Amino acid sequence: MSAALTLVNSLYASYRVQRQLLIDNTLEANRVYATKLANSTDVFLIAARQQLAYSAALLADQLENKQMLQSEVRRLQLQTNSFNSVAIVDEQGWILAVSPDLFAGKQKMAKTPGAIEALAKQQPLISQPYISLAGNLVVFISHPVVDQAGHYFGYIGGTLYLKKKSILNDLLGEQYYHDGSYLYVVDQNRRLLYHPDPARVGQIVHGNPVVEAVIRGENGKKRLINSKGVSMLAGYANVPSAHWGIVAQKETDARLGALNNLMLDMLRNTAPLGIFGLIIVWWLARLISRPLLQLAESAQEMQSPGAAGRIERVKPWYYEAAQLKRVMLVGVRLLHAKIGLLTSEAQTDALTGLYNRRVLDSSLERLKAEQIPFAAVAVDIDHFKRVNDNFGHGIGDQVLKRLGELMRINTRDDDVLCRIGGEEFLILLPNSSPEVALRVSERLRQQVELTLFKTAGHITISLGVAHWPHTSSDINEVLKQADTMLYTAKQSGRNKVVAAPADPREKNLVS
Ligand code: GH3
Ligand code: MG
Ligand code: MG
Repeated sequence: MSAALTLVNSLYASYRVQRQLLIDNTLEANRVYATKLANSTDVFLIAARQQLAYSAALLADQLENKQMLQSEVRRLQLQTNSFNSVAIVDEQGWILAVSPDLFAGKQKMAKTPGAIEALAKQQPLISQPYISLAGNLVVFISHPVVDQAGHYFGYIGGTLYLKKKSILNDLLGEQYYHDGSYLYVVDQNRRLLYHPDPARVGQIVHGNPVVEAVIRGENGKKRLINSKGVSMLAGYANVPSAHWGIVAQKETDARLGALNNLMLDMLRNTAPLGIFGLIIVWWLARLISRPLLQLAESAQEMQSPGAAGRIERVKPWYYEAAQLKRVMLVGVRLLHAKIGLLTSEAQTDALTGLYNRRVLDSSLERLKAEQIPFAAVAVDIDHFKRVNDNFGHGIGDQVLKRLGELMRINTRDDDVLCRIGGEEFLILLPNSSPEVALRVSERLRQQVELTLFKTAGHITISLGVAHWPHTSSDINEVLKQADTMLYTAKQSGRNKVVAAPADPREKNLVS
């Protein structure tokens, strides 16, 4: 997950950085371009004005020379290539000369807004855009004709087409690239002087922050939503001589579309290696976690007998897991040893090592459940009190211990030897007939009789034998019978084995 997250994050970060870079670069490119065009336009307008100023100075004393005027307007229009038309007008507004010659030599008054403005202001002027006599949207650049004495004689002026082919269109329109970028020019009244869509030329632009900035005379760049609600990356620059503004811009989406393709390309190129890397990471993570997982699963069943084997089978291939495995093995062995110890402590009598009453009960249950016939032999030491009295409890205990050993020697492994009271024992002999039980009891009695106990000397025991189901079909009854037989043995002189009869009416078997 973290590898995938890192990958996605780096892709996203690179996208954000590229995107910002692209936006910044585009804004800067547009700013530089608008500035360059504003400079070019400014230079052009100043040059055009100087040309008119030169002609005005030349013609100040020659206004009567119609031929001179005519050749000068023709020269300005044709030679300089700056103007679409050129005219000389006197101080009353009469056109003295015009090129191209629209009126075929007839006397005409100049009545266009540009002409009226030029006459009114009597100073160098770049007019507002207006519709010319020939029906073209134009701006009018004019220069007053003044003699050395300062007398005003009229003006010389030239028009520039805004919609048709003109030097302005050449300057602005043709050198710009065609990738969704375009530029437009506004005058100080926010009127479009140039726009790639000719239908918009002459319209006023409202509520465009870039237009507002550029007509305040500012230069710069800005990301904006234009009047049509489209996000734009715009650079803008002011043309000081005419107070026009030039805006070069590109749609943000068009610019970022390229980036999206770039990112998709990048994704396509990085995906195979990225996925391969993720698989490696996933595989390694699994490899690292597998021994831990196996150890954790084993840890849930530490007490079960197979736990050590399961832990043994875990293959830790690195130091930490190997150490964990080692410690767990040590732990599980300790645990099992402890459980074993506790179990045997819970089941055996500490002094003799024989089973206690708890095991006797469970053994009886088992024998009953599995329907295994068995003999029960109750054993009690004769006059044990005397041993204690004569030699002390310690010697008494040693007698008990030695007797336990004798009992073990004289029985099979399957037989259940229990110490059920101080010096009282019960032996279960599974799958033994009453005769076998009697024989085993007798052998034990003789063995004890013949044994020389340390310090205590000779002792004897009395035994009572019963059999399930031979002497009773009730197991509790069988135990009682063994006890009763033991009591009978004691009553009849001790150091005896007394067996319960198969039939209650039968006489007790006494040996
Ligand atoms: P009897 O022949 O009638 O069985 O005589 P007895 O003296 O053996 O009488 P009884 O069985 O009633 O006596 C039990 C005595 O066994 C009492 C007690 O001093 C002794 N005893 C019981 N448990 C222990 C033991 O754990 N250690 C020792 N040293 N003596 C015990
Ligand atoms: Mg007793
Ligand atoms: Mg006794």
